[in-house]
Amino acid sequence: MSSDRRTAPAGDREPDSGQTFLEVEGLSKYFSGNDGLFGPLTFEGEGLVPRPALDRQRVRAVDDVSFEIRQGETLGLVGESGCGKSTLARTVLKLLEPTDGAVYFKGRNLADTGGEELRRMRKDMQIIFQDPQSSLDPRMKVGPIIEEPMKAHGMLDDEDREARTRELLGKVGLDPQHYNRYPHQFSGGQRQRVNLARALSVNPDFIVCDEPTSALDASIQAQVLNTMNELQDEFGLTYLFISHDLSVIRYIADRVAVMYLGEIVELADKEELFENPEHPYTEALLSAIPAPDPRSTETRSLLEGDVPSPIDPPSGCRFRTRCPKLIAPPEYDLSDDEWDAIRDFTRAVDRRSPAIDAIEADEDRPPAELRRDLRGTFFGDASLRGETEDIVEEALDLVVEGDIEAADDLLQRSFVDSSICAREVPAYDVENEHGDVVHRANCHLHRDDA
Ligand code: SF4
Repeated sequence: MSSDRRTAPAGDREPDSGQTFLEVEGLSKYFSGNDGLFGPLTFEGEGLVPRPALDRQRVRAVDDVSFEIRQGETLGLVGESGCGKSTLARTVLKLLEPTDGAVYFKGRNLADTGGEELRRMRKDMQIIFQDPQSSLDPRMKVGPIIEEPMKAHGMLDDEDREARTRELLGKVGLDPQHYNRYPHQFSGGQRQRVNLARALSVNPDFIVCDEPTSALDASIQAQVLNTMNELQDEFGLTYLFISHDLSVIRYIADRVAVMYLGEIVELADKEELFENPEHPYTEALLSAIPAPDPRSTETRSLLEGDVPSPIDPPSGCRFRTRCPKLIAPPEYDLSDDEWDAIRDFTRAVDRRSPAIDAIEADEDRPPAELRRDLRGTFFGDASLRGETEDIVEEALDLVVEGDIEAADDLLQRSFVDSSICAREVPAYDVENEHGDVVHRANCHLHRDDA
């Protein structure tokens, strides 16, 4: 296992013999309140005034992201809503200017392209959006909609464009006779097929698919995904496929990148990732996939707590505020059982869990009784040792007194801030028994001395 943080060199590079097609290095995209129409000013009362300080803080939507996509493969990008997937896709395509980092498309650094060259490269890089309805102009017939990109790139004459459009309608599973229909005359799945035909019209070799099936019913989803697979084989396409749905990713992807709060936390071949997830966030996502058998009694560790703000993400590992495997701080010499109990109690106080709320709301019972129950809930009969016992006792007192904020502050300072999870940004390659790197998993559980 080794640390793996890279920086972005300038200039172009030769595409390697492993057929790396697209390479993303240290890519970041931050937004600030200054990004709007009036920059650092905003309207207030009768005129423009400087924006408030909070508004000027930066939203770190994508932060130091690196990955590569090989020719002809589908890289699945998965994560909860708002984790930065779509911003990453748009920044990769240079539809958004990156704050930092580089994107190499077939060896060419996109930062060095512009004007006519960028326009030509854009022809090779298409995007399909989530909502098939709003991405089609309702006043236009689908034939001219599909022809638009060809016209913009000066491809073919009118007659050949129409012939190609009718052919593409057939390729994506629609009737070529529907050339003169309007978008509203199609179902959601059919409209997404129109979008596919439009993307394919300019002969791209790379398509970013941004949640293309999430607005569709499950059975229609499967049909559209099948069509996309067939088109990939026929046209030699490379996909970056974005979804919040791991079932969809499992179906379509060859490799999978898992994103959390602006960062990629795990990346591996699909089978490897689904069989041996190496990051607690991926484990939690996988355990949240509904079991096919409703009678299954398999335990599910659903994700708890909210995603923190990307304006001020947690230090160290960004998942640490929700991680059920947070690593014990080294200074206390805790047994596994002791740490499990302390970690659960710390998380419950931090999240104001129902057990903590119940103590706060119960005004009828004597404090000593509440305290005994609270301790029993989290620690059973176990006795802690030395300083640990003192800290937990003090935190229990604060909770019973109703000062949850002070209890949280004490527990965070004592047990979280000195954990390696809060102090260091994790970045690890995981090797198999033959010494081959099979996984990137940004979790300190993979450090050499773990
Ligand atoms: S680094 Fe720590 S907090 Fe982050 S995922 Fe790993 S164990 Fe959890």
